[in-house]
Amino acid sequence: MFLKKIPFLLIPLILFYTPFSRHVYAAENQGIIDLRILETTDLHSSLVNYDYYQTKVDNRIGLVKTATLIHQARNEVKNSLLFDDGDHLKGNPLGEYLARIRGINHGKTHPVYRAFNSLGYDAIAIGNHEFNYGLKFLNAAIKGANMPVLNANVFSVKKNKPYFTPYIILKRQVVDQSGTKHTLKIGVIGFMPTQIMKWDKANLEGKVYAKPIIDAAKEFIPMMKAKGADLIIALAHTGISSEPYNSETENAVYYLTKFPEIDAVLAGHSHSVFPGPIFQNLANTNMTKGLINNKPVVMAGSFGSRLGIIDLKIGKIAGKWTVLQGTSTTKAISDENGRSLVKTDKRLFRIIKFEHQETVDFIRKLGL
Ligand SMILES: [Zn+2]
Repeated sequence: MFLKKIPFLLIPLILFYTPFSRHVYAAENQGIIDLRILETTDLHSSLVNYDYYQTKVDNRIGLVKTATLIHQARNEVKNSLLFDDGDHLKGNPLGEYLARIRGINHGKTHPVYRAFNSLGYDAIAIGNHEFNYGLKFLNAAIKGANMPVLNANVFSVKKNKPYFTPYIILKRQVVDQSGTKHTLKIGVIGFMPTQIMKWDKANLEGKVYAKPIIDAAKEFIPMMKAKGADLIIALAHTGISSEPYNSETENAVYYLTKFPEIDAVLAGHSHSVFPGPIFQNLANTNMTKGLINNKPVVMAGSFGSRLGIIDLKIGKIAGKWTVLQGTSTTKAISDENGRSLVKTDKRLFRIIKFEHQETVDFIRKLGL
């Protein structure tokens, strides 16, 4: 009797084993979201892998190369966001030519913003060098940017309000590990060094003033949380140092990582690479995982030499989306000898080649 019953009892097990185990697997992964955050920083108008001073190809620089890494990094994951951390308009002859010779008031979008639009950046930060050509030029240029252009610590003197959009809450549909869709509210805020008031005194005095980065963070981050931000990402155009805090520090990243509400920091301004060997003695830093004070931080060098990548694992704890794990790394476009490691994004090159060629021709005409 007992023996006869065994095959009968096994029938439902055999029938339902596969779907049941799939269901268990799905339940374990339900609500775990992998979110990748990509950073370019301090591009300084390096759109093309070209050295305008030596009039030759330079494969250590150029967004047309970084773009290929952006495409690869996006293709590896289900959910990603792309940001620029500022200092993108000035720093090479192309930037100079456009601002000082040709101008951009001809109904044309600045090629840097045309490139950002084409690559689908989710938001960008203003860096200190964006002020070098004056506010009029900057305001005309950023009109061409299709994404939010952020800074939270530069204020209008006249209005006593942020001069730019201080932060944005991006609503993004993401897919968790089991394939279920969720809408995440991703808060993004921008900062830059207060030293702009010294460096660009002639352009800025009487028009704007700069608040200490940490003070602006204290002012706006609670507002972002009140508006329902599930996560907060800082586009921090500022460097990394654990020197004792002073409000006028040019390098505020270390102190931004101490805000419990900030989940990831995209650093810049100092053209360094984080994680990287120059930061090995930094306090409370995990160089293997790219964490400072247990928060993922990335700094992707300069001129498009690297792409910054932060990978977050997000899950719900007590009903709130929470970062369970974060790591950061950077990927280079060339090896240490300047040999290219990636192909040129030809589509992007076609989009900006006109101004590149204009700059090359202008330099040639000058006989430089
Ligand atoms: Zn800078």
